[in-house]
Parts: sequence; C-alpha cells; structure tokens
Amino acid sequence: LGASGTFWELIERRAALTPERPFLIQDDRTLTFGELRTRAERVAAGLYAMGVRPGTVVAWQLPTRLETALLSFALARIGAVQTPVIPFYRDREVGFALRESKAEFFAVPGTWRGFDHTAMAARLSADLPHPPQVFEAYDPLPDGDPSVLPPPPADGTSVRWIYWTSGTTSDPKGVLHTDRSLIAGGSCLAHALHLSADDVGSMAFPFAHVAGPDYSVMLLLYGFPAVLFEHFAMPDALAGYRRHGVTVAGGSTAFYSMFLTEQRKAPSTPVVPTLRLLAGGGAPKPPEIYHAVVREMGVQLTHGYGMTEVPMITMGAPDDTVEHLAETEGRPPEGMEIRITDEDGKPLPYDTDGEVRLRGEAVCQGYLAAASPFDAEGFLITGDVGHVRPSGHLVLTGRLKDIIIRKGENISAKEIEDLLARHPDVGDAAVIGLPDQSRGERVCAVVEQPPNAAPLTLPELTAYLRGEGLSVHKLPEQLELVDALPRNEALRKVLKYQLRERFGG
Ligand code: ATP
Ligand code: MG
Repeated sequence: LGASGTFWELIERRAALTPERPFLIQDDRTLTFGELRTRAERVAAGLYAMGVRPGTVVAWQLPTRLETALLSFALARIGAVQTPVIPFYRDREVGFALRESKAEFFAVPGTWRGFDHTAMAARLSADLPHPPQVFEAYDPLPDGDPSVLPPPPADGTSVRWIYWTSGTTSDPKGVLHTDRSLIAGGSCLAHALHLSADDVGSMAFPFAHVAGPDYSVMLLLYGFPAVLFEHFAMPDALAGYRRHGVTVAGGSTAFYSMFLTEQRKAPSTPVVPTLRLLAGGGAPKPPEIYHAVVREMGVQLTHGYGMTEVPMITMGAPDDTVEHLAETEGRPPEGMEIRITDEDGKPLPYDTDGEVRLRGEAVCQGYLAAASPFDAEGFLITGDVGHVRPSGHLVLTGRLKDIIIRKGENISAKEIEDLLARHPDVGDAAVIGLPDQSRGERVCAVVEQPPNAAPLTLPELTAYLRGEGLSVHKLPEQLELVDALPRNEALRKVLKYQLRERFGG
C-alpha cells in the first residue's frame, strides 16, 4: 500500500499504470481504469457542488451498474461517509438505515424494476427528524469541474463506509469500515486466489454489498476486469460469462448450485469454457457441493469465510488438498488472528469447537448503534462456532444462535444440513430450532426439493439420517416442505428467522 492507504490512492495508482485496461464490463459497456479515475472525479465535483463534504453521510440504494461504482468511488474521492443499501430492500430496512446513519443525502435510482424508489424515499424521509436530501443518481449522474475539489483524503483510517449486516439473526447492524480495513480484506482475497492480470472476474452479488469494494480492490491491485450483472439470473448470466471470457466466477453457495443446475442440462460441454475457478463464501458450503462442482464442471472451487464486519477472514487456496478444500473454510491470511475460545474468552486447543474471535487489519471498527462486538483484548466476537485444525485450516460448525438446544443437549443445525444436502430428493435444506414446551427446542427440517422429486416424509428422512449415523437425539421431529427457502437478496442466504416465525407457532 501507498502512503495514505485510501481507495483514491489505489485508483490513481492503477489509472497511472494501465489506464486503457478495463475495470468493469457490463453488457456492451466498459469502464477502464483511466475512465474510472477521471469520471469519478467529475462525479465527485458534482456531489461537492450539491454540498457533499469530507465526512458527510451519504446513503445510496442503487442497482449494480457502472455508474454506481463511479458514484461510490466519487464519495471515496471526497472522503464522505457512504452507506450502501441493497437495492431490493424496502421500507423496513431502508428506513432503518436512514434513521440509524442519520444520512444527509440519499441517492436513489428513480423507478427501478417497476418500483418507485423516489416515492419510498419521500415517504421514509417524512418520518425522520433530519430528513436526507433525496436525489435521483443517474438522471443525470452528478457532474462538475474537478478543480473545485479539495485534496483527496490523506488518511485511510477514518470511518468512511457503513454496511448493514444481513439481519439473519436479528435487526441489521451498521458496520463501520475504513478504507484501510476494506483494502486489507481485498488484498488478502487477491492473494489467496492466486489471480493475475490475465483473469476476468465477475460480480454476481450487488455492488451495494460489502463485497463490492472488497472485490474492486482485487481488480485495482492486479489490473484485471470484472463483469457486472444488474439482474443476475441463469441462464442469461452464463451468456455474459461466455461472451466476456470469465475465468473466475462465484458468489455464495447458492450460486454454485445455480452453476451446477446449468451444467447438468448439458453435462458434456463446459458451461463457460474459459472458467477455471469458482470462488465465493459467506454461507455454509456442504462438502458435497464442492465435490459435485469439481467432478461435474471440471473447475476448481474455493470457498471462504467472511462477514460484513470482516469481509475476508479465511479463504481456500486453489492448490490446497481436496480434503481441506471440501471440508474447511481455508486459512486466514497474514495478519488475521483467529482465536477459538470458550464462553469466557479463554483460548481452546486445536480441533476443539468454540467461539470464533478475530483480530487484524481487515476487522471493522465496530457498530454504529449496537453494543461493542470486541472483547477485552480487542478481538471481534463473531457469534460463529468452529475449530482450527493443526494445519491452520478453519472449520465452521455453526453459529451460536444456530445451535439448537433440545433437552439441554446442543445440536448443530449445520451438521444435519450437511447430511440432508447429500440426500438425492433434497435440493436445499435449513434446520431450525423451534420452541417446544417439553424439550425446550425441537429440531425442524425445512426442505426445498428438486423438481420432480417425490415428496419426502418425516419417517423417510429420519431413517436416512439414522443410516448416515446421526444420533437419535438430533433427529428432526418436524419436516416442512417448501417451494423455496426465504433468502436475502445479497448472497441468497437463508433467512432462518423467517422460517422460525413461519413454523414456530
Ligand atoms: P446478522 O449479523 O445481522 O444476523 P449475518 O451475520 O448473516 O446477519 P452477514 O455479515 O452477511 O450477516 O453474514 C456473516 C455470517 O455468515 C457469518 O457470521 C457466518 O455465520 C456466516 N458465514 C459466512 N461465511 C460462511 C462460511 N463459509 N460457512 C458458514 N457460514 C458462513
Ligand atoms: Mg452477523
């Protein structure tokens, strides 16, 4: 890193090195690194003229477009504090983000996919003590003469990004990041994946997700492009991958399944001939899906562990052993300390499950309004459960809030989910604990079946799980078949709180 450790410095350096090379590609349009620098600076000047200053809080809820990246990096150029909101979110989440962040400006796309964002912004603003100035960001994109701008921020250590957690377990939390923490995560990612200037990446997740700047760091460091998708849907996305010769694709576990489904339609031809690596993370990955991708698609799969608070914690390395790639989340990069502890924060030995705690440059500064997530030694308490192998590989076994306590026995939802994933009549499954008068909690399996599969019954399911060696006290006592598991829009992670509400009654 250079002197200031800011995004803008990274952009200037890359623009000086390879101005003509593409940074982002979308449909027929390309934004080069040189254009990123000059155009983002003009957008910054436009925002400055509207009153955006270093430290001004600007919320934006914009779809994944080249212009969105320009606006985001324009805010980084000014040194404003930006808080991106996933474009599919509605009143509840957006109102929450505006209220908690006390945003002074709010950039919206106007009407997008049939939904009037400007009207929603007006409705929400009316309820706020300090309503933000709402503006439609694309029409036109802010523009001005860069000579009016103050110098770019000189430090990478101020809070300039507020991202919202997925709200899987409770209300979302506003996570405070600096340029430096996001750049640290992105550079580790680039390193872990062994990428080069000849790669072509892709962003399947919304640019408004914390993975947006994280992934951009990788592109800025190595100078290769990524293909953006405003509407990510198969099989259209595959056409885009083929057309632009994508070599590295990914997202999260649900994306691997989407690739596999497409591959199975024509097993003998590769879905994307140039593709060599599927890389992703952010949600549990059953070992079975690793084996299926490698076997059926003939590409490598690396999976990592990340969270809004620490976008990159561990990542599988493409040249690691099959066993480690299938069963673990990979190893932490240089500078990331992982500590597995008991409830009191006392470190536990290798191979012993405990709470995962983290310390390092890529860790966030804390939360906007929620209680501090750090322990006395400055480790972030993640709420995840796992262990570290003597080789340094991390194995995640569940989340503290995803442990089901039945008759006083701790049961990991993930252990059962991994077994269910191997059943031929199970497409996807989530295991939840439901309040139960006599047992405290009971185990409930919610199953999404593949098309044309015969409906599963509870006795069949428990017979299968017993056959796989699951102990009797962990067997599901309730089975719910659903057409589709509720998922969040960013990483398509299963929203278990919704399942608990729906089936807990
Ligand atoms: P909230 O904190 O609001 O309840 P969330 O934790 O789901 O929501 P994110 O920051 O999007 O919000 O997700 C991070 C979490 O996702 C991690 O804490 C972990 O539980 C889970 N996760 C991330 N990567 C993996 C992985 N490779 N395997 C299993 N779980 C993972
Ligand atoms: Mg969380």
